Amino acid sequence: MDFKAALYKRFEKYARIDTTSDEKSGTFPSTKKQLVLSRLLAAELKAIGAKSVKLDKYGYVTAGIPATIKEKKPVIGFLAHVDTSPAVSGKDVRPQVHKGWKGGDIVISRKHGVILNTKNCPELAGCRGEDIVTASGDTLLGADNKAGIAVIMTAAEYLLQHKEIPHGILKIGFTPDEEVGQGVKFFDVKAFGADYAYTFDGDVAGAVEDETFNADGVKITIEGKSVHPGTAKNALANAARIAADIVARWPENLLPETTENREGFIMFTDIAGEIEKAEVSGIVREHDIKKLKAMERQLEAIVAAARLKYPLAKIALSFREQYRNMKQVIVKHPEVMGNLLAAVKGAGLVPHMKPVRGGTDGARLSFMGLPTPNVFTGGYNYHGRYEWVSLDGMNKSAEVLINLAREWAK
Ligand SMILES: [Zn+2]
Repeated sequence: MDFKAALYKRFEKYARIDTTSDEKSGTFPSTKKQLVLSRLLAAELKAIGAKSVKLDKYGYVTAGIPATIKEKKPVIGFLAHVDTSPAVSGKDVRPQVHKGWKGGDIVISRKHGVILNTKNCPELAGCRGEDIVTASGDTLLGADNKAGIAVIMTAAEYLLQHKEIPHGILKIGFTPDEEVGQGVKFFDVKAFGADYAYTFDGDVAGAVEDETFNADGVKITIEGKSVHPGTAKNALANAARIAADIVARWPENLLPETTENREGFIMFTDIAGEIEKAEVSGIVREHDIKKLKAMERQLEAIVAAARLKYPLAKIALSFREQYRNMKQVIVKHPEVMGNLLAAVKGAGLVPHMKPVRGGTDGARLSFMGLPTPNVFTGGYNYHGRYEWVSLDGMNKSAEVLINLAREWAK
């Protein structure tokens, strides 16, 4: 199947719409401009013949594709997010296609010195001969997650036109604010009506993800004791310096910049302090919940040692649950990954399972009662000027979606 022309046409249109989300906003969705794309998607869904198309007050776009078989089968949802990361500008994105990439430098912008190759991105190596889409050097591309939207739209259109393909009821959902961690905050799982779902928000062709981090936040607060420095001997507790001492004692091999794959870490994200008071915030991340707790005990031991070393200070330590590894939900429904692996193989790819070093909307949905692993869209280097997506990878992603619809009808 060749959807490349249709995929690119859609992708380019979506990529040109600025949908940057904003973590500091107090509204939902966090930025109004996301609704420009949401409205366009609702109109497009109606135009391709999707049923019960809805854009609700939160900016969620939902729609349905009727079953083509009589037998009752689980209802399957397909999800993607409309926003792009606030990390890099998403204004005036100008996508360009590097057709039939031969393996050399891909010049995204000579002026901005943005040149993509297999040295700075080994993941590109699998895409020789493919059509690679990038931005133009001064913005991100927004393949995260507009590639996923283009894939879902194009596959949905195909399914609506080919009623001979056997499948049960299918649902489509486009959500705002994934990049600022709020994507499914108001998502009505029950009204959506799917039994299982897939986010099309992964990276290179073949990659599927059923695992996220377990995530806690950490906070250390230190109350010091201020005394004139001239007479401070044995009388001063300098909260700012104690904070620095605690942070420095955390092992260097348990930081995000020194870990990969299944290795967990603590990252101290914020240190604010003066003599009388200091506060350290951070995040704890680990795929294995036992190892997460072990790291927290390790930090507790460092804080306990600091309490002995600085008896004049008051030091408090607390952890707060942020999200949990979706694997524990998904393993209870083995057909969710079973059908996905079959669908990926059916598209002629070798599935590559890898743990997400982060969270996904799917992780939250899984704990809201909708098991939702993540599927590749064919891109990489998200949230930056080096972002790229392979049109051939997007094409495979659309094939996987159609295969999934078939697999669930078996
Ligand atoms: Zn994404």
